[in-house]
Amino acid sequence: MIKKLIRKILGTKSKAARDANTPVVLGPEAHGIDPRLLSNNAIRVTSALQEAGYEAFVVGGAVRDLLLGVKPKDFDIATNATPEQVKRLFRRAFIIGKRFQIVHVMFGNDLLEVTTFRGTTSANAPKDEHGRVLRDNTFGSQAEDAERRDFTINAMYYNPANQQVLDYHGGIEDIRAKTLRIIGKPEERYREDPVRMLRVVRFAAKLKFSIEQETGAPIKVMAPLINNVPAARVFDEMLKLLMSGHALACLQQLRKEGLHHGLLPLLDVVLEQPMGFKFVTLALDSTDARIHAGKTVSPGFLFASLLWHQVLEKWEAYRAAGEQTIPALHLAADDVLDSQTEKLALQRKIGSDMRDIWAMQPRFERRTGKAPHKLLEHQRFRAGYDFLLLRCASGEIDAEIGEWWTAFYESDEASREDLISSASQPSGGGAGGAKRKRGPRRGGRNRSGGGRGDEGSGPDNAAPAHDGGGD
Ligand code: ATP
Ligand code: MG
Repeated sequence: MIKKLIRKILGTKSKAARDANTPVVLGPEAHGIDPRLLSNNAIRVTSALQEAGYEAFVVGGAVRDLLLGVKPKDFDIATNATPEQVKRLFRRAFIIGKRFQIVHVMFGNDLLEVTTFRGTTSANAPKDEHGRVLRDNTFGSQAEDAERRDFTINAMYYNPANQQVLDYHGGIEDIRAKTLRIIGKPEERYREDPVRMLRVVRFAAKLKFSIEQETGAPIKVMAPLINNVPAARVFDEMLKLLMSGHALACLQQLRKEGLHHGLLPLLDVVLEQPMGFKFVTLALDSTDARIHAGKTVSPGFLFASLLWHQVLEKWEAYRAAGEQTIPALHLAADDVLDSQTEKLALQRKIGSDMRDIWAMQPRFERRTGKAPHKLLEHQRFRAGYDFLLLRCASGEIDAEIGEWWTAFYESDEASREDLISSASQPSGGGAGGAKRKRGPRRGGRNRSGGGRGDEGSGPDNAAPAHDGGGD
C-alpha cells in the first residue's frame, strides 16, 4: 500500500525508475541469459563498434526474449556512435530514415538495425492537436534512450562482451513477475504515441503477461486516439499483431481492452460478425499454426480471410439487386477494399492478392471441361485453394468441393479426367460459388453469434466429410 502511494506521489513505476540515470547492472549469474541464443552477427556488430571506441548493446525486444530464454527473431543494436560513424565500420551498411536516421547493417540476408541513443522527448517537440509527437530526432544518453522506450521489459541493454544487462526501469522484476508496465505516465505515453496501446495488447497476448493496472487503465478511454495515427503505421502494427503467432489471442485481448471498437473498421467487422466468426477463428488458428511451424504467411491471404464475410454479405446484396454473379463479386470486393484502405493503408500488392483470392472462389464451382485445369495453373492457385478449404471447414460451403479439389490437385492426369467426369454429374453447384446453400435451413443462426460453428463440422479440413451439404 505504502509502496504504491510513494510510487503515485513520485509518479514513477518502480524502485529503479526513481533514479532513472543509474541502471541496475546484472551479471550472467543474475540474469541467466544463455549466450548461445545470441546471433553471431549481433556480436559482430557490437564488437566492431566497441573496438572502434563506441558503446554498443543489444537492446529492446531481443534482450527481453533472451531473458525469457527465447531465441530472438531479430536483434536491434543501440550505440552512442552517430549513423555516419556506424556506417563507416561496416561494408554493407545503409543509413535509412529521413527524420531519425538509423543504420541497416547487412550480413548476407541477415539485417541488423543499429540505432543511436535517442534523447527524451522535449516539451517543445512538434505535436498534432491531440498531443501525438510528430517529430523528435535528437540524440541522447543511454539513460534518455531507455526512458523513451515503451515498456520496462523492452528497455534493457545487453553487452555481449561482458555479459552484463543494464536495467534502468525495473524491467527484470517485471519480466519475472510477467508484467507489462509502461515507462513514465501512461496517459502521456499513449498520447505521444497511441500505437503503444496496440503494442501493449500484442505483448500481453504474445508473452502471456498481465498488464499492470495503471498501464491498462487509460486504454479504454484513450483508444479513439488511434484514429489520428497515420494509417500506414497502424497497418504495420496490425500486421505484427496478426503475424505474431498469437493472432487470435491478440484479437481477443484487443476486444477485452475495448480497442477494437471504432479503432479500425477491420476489427469491428472481424470481431462482431456472428456469421464469419467461425471462419475468422479458423483462419487465425491456421495462421498461428503456420507461424509456429516456421512457414510463411501471406498478408494478402490473412486480410482476405478477415474480410471475407463482409465480402460475402455485399456480394449477396449485389446479386439480390440483380447483378450477375461475377460482376457482383467484384463490386463487393471494391466496396470492402475501399472502405478498409482508407483507414488501413492496405498496400496495393496486398489488395490485389486479396482480390485474386476472392475472385478465384466462384471458379472452384466450375468442375467441368477445361475449367479446373485452367484454375490449377493460376499463379495464386494454392492460396485460393487453401482459402476454399477454410470455407469448407467453417461450414460455409459443402465440404465435398474441398475434397474434390484436394483429390484433383494431388492426382495424375488420368485420375483428373475421372474426377471431372464424376463432378459433371448432378452438380448441386449452381451459379455463385459462395451461395450459402445451407443458410436458410439453419433457422436462427443469423442472430446467434458464432453459433454456426457448433454444428458438427470439425476444425479440420478433412473432418466434415459427411453432412456437409444441405441437399
Ligand atoms: P518484437 O519481438 O515484436 O519485434 P520488439 O520489442 O523488438 O518486439 P520492435 O517494434 O521491434 O518491438 O521495437 C524495438 C524496440 O524499440 C522495443 O523493444 C522498444 O524498446 C522500442 N519501441 C518500439 N516501438 C516503440 C514505441 N512506439 N514507443 C517507444 N518505444 C518503442
Ligand atoms: Mg524487434
